Amino acid sequence: MSKGTLYIVAAPSGAGKTSLVTELVNTTKYITVSVSHTTRPMREGEKDGVNYNFTSIDEFQHMIGQGVFLEHAEVFGNFYGTSQAWVEEQLEKGIDVILEIDWQGAQQVRRLMPEVLGIFILPPSQKELHKRLTGRGQDDENVIAHRMAKAVSEMSHFNEFDYIIINDDFEDALFDLKAVIRSKRLGLDFQKGYRKDLIKDLLH
Ligand code: 5GP
Repeated sequence: MSKGTLYIVAAPSGAGKTSLVTELVNTTKYITVSVSHTTRPMREGEKDGVNYNFTSIDEFQHMIGQGVFLEHAEVFGNFYGTSQAWVEEQLEKGIDVILEIDWQGAQQVRRLMPEVLGIFILPPSQKELHKRLTGRGQDDENVIAHRMAKAVSEMSHFNEFDYIIINDDFEDALFDLKAVIRSKRLGLDFQKGYRKDLIKDLLH
């Protein structure tokens, strides 16, 4: 069996990353998404152990000391980290793993696992991003300007990634995301393991 592939999917807030990754994972075999640890408060509708493993700052610091994290970073005032053991376990089982992490975490993972494939999701325009970050029209302009600035700062790291996907139309972006995964799985490295018996049979 071939080992699974590790992917990073990064994006600014408002690009639609989580919806795309959720749909990808729900409709594709042998791929899963890592549930990060975070110290940020739980938002309405979120579930512990599903969206994140919600952790206290003390517990998070302790986990850093124990070497639990493959990567960890402070993002906009909260800590986030990825469990190394869990990720490695999935990859060993032949399951692909997606890390939905920011550019700082991506840099750390790239250093440790240079074979990782990075995908960056961008919105189709500044105007559309502004619209998506405006919420239901209840936020004041300062809050929105702050969100826009954070998004621009994240987007400035787009050229550290291997693939760029523009999320204008959701279905098109999902198709592109699936194409990246499919293309990787059609590659010789993967097929040599996955199609071992077929190749043996064809060549004997
Ligand atoms: P949110 O709190 O809105 O869910 O996520 C805020 C940011 O933290 C997003 O850019 C997200 O990709 C990033 N993030 C989520 N989990 C992790 C993680 O485990 N590690 C790193 N480095 N960033 C993360």
